[in-house]
Amino acid sequence: MSDKIWLSSPHMGGRELQFIHEAFDANWVAPLGPNVNGFEEDLEKFLNADVKVAALSAGTAALHLALIECGVGHGDEVICQTMTFSASANPIAYQGAIPVFVDSEEDTWNMCPKALREAITDHVAKGRVPKAIIVVHLYGMPAKMDEILAVAHEFDIPVIEDAAEALGSTYKGKACGTFGKFGVLSFNGNKIITTSGGGALVCHNKVDKDKAVFLSTQARDDAPHYQHSHIGYNYRMSNICAGIGRGQMEVLTQRVDARRAMTAFYVDLFANYPGVKVFVAPTSDFYSNHWLAAITIEPDEAGITREDLRLALLELNIESRPLWKPMHLQPVFEGTSYYGAKVAEELFDKGLCLPSGSNLTDIELERIKLAIDQVFSK
Ligand SMILES: *Cc1c(COP(=O)(O)O)cnc(C)c1O
Repeated sequence: MSDKIWLSSPHMGGRELQFIHEAFDANWVAPLGPNVNGFEEDLEKFLNADVKVAALSAGTAALHLALIECGVGHGDEVICQTMTFSASANPIAYQGAIPVFVDSEEDTWNMCPKALREAITDHVAKGRVPKAIIVVHLYGMPAKMDEILAVAHEFDIPVIEDAAEALGSTYKGKACGTFGKFGVLSFNGNKIITTSGGGALVCHNKVDKDKAVFLSTQARDDAPHYQHSHIGYNYRMSNICAGIGRGQMEVLTQRVDARRAMTAFYVDLFANYPGVKVFVAPTSDFYSNHWLAAITIEPDEAGITREDLRLALLELNIESRPLWKPMHLQPVFEGTSYYGAKVAEELFDKGLCLPSGSNLTDIELERIKLAIDQVFSK
C-alpha cells in the first residue's frame, strides 16, 4: 500500500530547531522567554493592524480567555456560528454560559448576518441581550465581517473572531483575527503553521493583552508570596513551542501560497466533473488562505455522493473528511437554541475536505488526481 496522504500535516520551514537550540543554550525551557516575546512580535507585525498578541497554549485557551474578558459568566447567552469545530463552542460551556447557534450563508459558509440579527432581536425582545458573538472563518474563508460587525455594533455586543483556521487570510485587505474585540489563532499540528500545539489571543490594546497574560499565568497578584484575588489558568505558551512558531513565521507566506495552489489544483481537476463545486472566494474582497480545500457534491448531477468519494479515497490510503458537523446537531449540545435555515446541515451532507497540505509532492498530487478520475469514471 502507498503511504498515507493526509488532509493536512505539519510542514517545518528549517529554522525551527535553531530557535529551540537558542532556548536550550540560554536555559529558557519555561512558559516564558525570548521566543515567546519574539513570536508575539512576529505575529503583531504580520497582522499589521496595531494589535497586541498574547501567545497561549492553545486556540481553545484563547477563546476561553476572550469570553472571560468579555465578561461572560454563568447563565449568560453567547451567539456562536453552528458550522464550526467544537472548540469554538466548548469554552462557552466552561463559563457556565449558554450557546445560541446561528446558521451559515452560502457564499462563505460562515455566520449568516440575517440569521444573526434574528437571533439577537429575538433575545433582546425577551430582555436577554447576548454577551458576545463568536464568528468563525471556516477553512480560512473570511466571514462577511462588514455585515456582521454592523449588526454587532447596532446592539453593542462584542465580537470574538475565531480565526484559528484563517492566519494569512484577509477581508478587504485587513487580516482575519483583527476585526473583533478579540481574535483567536491556533497553531495546532494540522493548522497552516504549527507550534506542535499552541494558540494566541489577538487584542487591540495593552490592557486587554496584559489581562490575558495575567490570567494565563495563574493570576498571581503583585506580591513576594503567592497571592491571588482571581481564578487563574495555566494557558501560557512554552518558550520551546514559541521557537517552532518563530521558525514557522518565516515561511507563513509560502505556506499560504502553497495551500491556495492546492485549491487551484482541485478547481482544475473538478472542472471536468458536473455536480462538484470547489469552495472558492465569492469576490476579491475575500482572500482565503485555503487552509483546507473543500468541495460540495450534488449527488443527482455527479452520480456519486460525498461519502462514495470519501470511501473510494480511503481505499487508496488518501484521507478526506466531511465538513464540520454543525454544533446544533451535536449530541452534547442537544436542546440548545438555533436560528437560521438548513445551510449548514446541507453543507455537512454534501461537503468534503480534501488533502490540502503545503508539503504534498507532485507524485502525491498525481495519486490524488488518478484516484478522483477513477471514482468518477466508474
Ligand atoms: C483548531 C480550531 C480551534 C482550536 O484550536 P486549538 O489550538 O486546537 O485549541 C478553534 N476553532 C477552530 C475553528 C479550529 O479549527
